Amino acid sequence: HEEPRVVLSARGLSKSFGAFLAVRDVDLDIQHARVHALIGPNGAGKTTVFNLLTKFLQPTAGSITLLGTDITKTPPDKVARMGLVRSFQISAVFPHLTVLDNIRVALQRPNGLSTQFWLPTSALDRLNDRADELIETVGLKRERNAIAADLSYGRKRVLEIATTLALDPKVLLLDEPMAGMGQEDIGTVSNIIREVAKTRAVLMVEHNLSVVADICHHVTVLQRGEILAEGDYAAVSQDERVRLAYMGT
Ligand code: ADP
Repeated sequence: HEEPRVVLSARGLSKSFGAFLAVRDVDLDIQHARVHALIGPNGAGKTTVFNLLTKFLQPTAGSITLLGTDITKTPPDKVARMGLVRSFQISAVFPHLTVLDNIRVALQRPNGLSTQFWLPTSALDRLNDRADELIETVGLKRERNAIAADLSYGRKRVLEIATTLALDPKVLLLDEPMAGMGQEDIGTVSNIIREVAKTRAVLMVEHNLSVVADICHHVTVLQRGEILAEGDYAAVSQDERVRLAYMGT
């Protein structure tokens, strides 16, 4: 297993929309080889934090550092090329292509292996090998030649994750990856995230607390734009203020 180290950090991150302060003075440290959960009630500011980190929104105050580089003023496309990738950015699955072809297309996107139209044979072999590796990683071997549109909802989400991984992100941001899934797919996606996080940092917004308990090493709880508590799930779920604010007990 690779050693954890901070790869993405935010200091004093704030965002106001007019007079409304949606995110207030948030500090975050996202570590390599760890799964970090961002939880909190609706309206807590989770999506705004994701948008700030990926630079879709410009912070009102504070700074963000990615892999040692200050990205506070860096445009989102550049941040993505530096390795901070959010799942929906590339979640364009082509419904009429096979699983394999979707992954091959993803591998040829600007962050992937090549953008050339005609690939030399050696590069094509490399692309096909890498596609099969990814198919293996996410467990889509049986569906390798299936048309994407024919996959179940859960398998489609898995394919989306595979196309995200094709960009070889250093930090992967997942917005409710389990939303709308049944138990079996939740188990599958949990295993994929665990596997992926052996060599990357993962930050995920997740409402399913048993998933958080199961796969997340670190939890940050937001409430009204501020950090209410943080730590491992056991510690956070014992916190009186969290129980009151989030769990309603
Ligand atoms: P969460 O993802 O935790 O549900 P959000 O980050 O979506 O929370 O929203 C946090 C708060 O900021 C909410 O009160 C929301 O209404 C407000 N908000 C989010 N985006 C905007 C915007 N573009 N303009 C005004 N208010 C916004």
